[in-house]
Amino acid sequence: MKTAVFSARRYDKSMLAQANEGAGHELRFLEDRLSPATAVLAAGCAAVCVFVNDSVDAEVLALLAAQGTRLVATRSTGYNHIDVGAAGRLGIAVVRVTDYSPHSVAEFAVGLLLAVNRKIARASVRTREGNFELDGLMGVDLHGKTVGVIGTGKIGLIFARIMAGFGCRLVGHDRFPTPAFEALGGAYMDVEQLLACSDVVSLHCPLFEETHHIVGAEALARVKRGCILVNTSRGGLVDTEAAIQALKSGQLGGLAIDVYEQEASLFFQDLSSTVILDDVIQRLVSFPNVIVTGHQAFFTVEAIGQIMRTTIESISAFERGEELVNRVPRA
Ligand code: NAD
Repeated sequence: MKTAVFSARRYDKSMLAQANEGAGHELRFLEDRLSPATAVLAAGCAAVCVFVNDSVDAEVLALLAAQGTRLVATRSTGYNHIDVGAAGRLGIAVVRVTDYSPHSVAEFAVGLLLAVNRKIARASVRTREGNFELDGLMGVDLHGKTVGVIGTGKIGLIFARIMAGFGCRLVGHDRFPTPAFEALGGAYMDVEQLLACSDVVSLHCPLFEETHHIVGAEALARVKRGCILVNTSRGGLVDTEAAIQALKSGQLGGLAIDVYEQEASLFFQDLSSTVILDDVIQRLVSFPNVIVTGHQAFFTVEAIGQIMRTTIESISAFERGEELVNRVPRA
């Protein structure tokens, strides 16, 4: 099936091409992000394959539908960048990758937590410059601390399991509590209670209207003073301006983020030779107790391999007219 692959980086091209061996789809790799201006590049393609910062809104979907696109396959779990309602109305099916190494993201969240708590990135920069001073690098033991997990699905549960291994006390919040979290010794509670008692809060719920800015000014006023916030889920869960105020006041003791609400214009590109116009991200990275990475939590050999295989399987299933097991939304 003719498939336009937007936001295609070197690793997308090689690993999707590898997954496509045997399936034989005609892949048109495009480095551009999908937008109203670039939708025309998918002309003649029945399938369009996208990533998290592609814009797949109603306008783009209408343009794609008019060009004959019938399937949108996102190389991600989250699908908040796709107007699924508009796709349905236009007769375009949407598939995602529901299952790919949740370990990749959970392990990275732990890495971010350690990095910000123990100032690992800062220490590394120092030693490269011949500075072996310890002043300013003190962290806290995670053992015995309370870790709040918002969203105890696949990733949140693995994160919780790892933190249990550190000897942390677990508290959680989820619309659908799971016994697996309680089996780890985790206690469910409402968000307000969780924020008030956690030394670390890690976000693992999807971005929906109801979860947008779930950590905003009000929530940040409730957190235990000095709390470390980790976000590997979606940028829109955190009101970044409010987080900056909380960092300035000391209410937040640290912030570790792999996702950022305005990441679409920044992430997955080398902007090191340009002037960054986003003052918020510039302010964020200036804090010594903040670590920002560019949406790389999923980026392991295992996860990418699985994402590409599932994407190709979905395109093949669509072509054969079979049921799409990774279709969104599921009934
Ligand atoms: P999942 O569906 O297995 O788990 C999500 C959990 O959030 C579910 O248990 C669900 O009930 C819960 N939830 C839904 N609404 C909630 C609410 N209002 N409050 C609290 N909990 C709520 O998904 P997952 O595979 O664990 O992925 C979680 C998120 O991680 C994804 O939505 C995605 O945004 C993000 N993610 C990020 C990366 C990355 O590279 N940074 C990669 C993959 C996924």
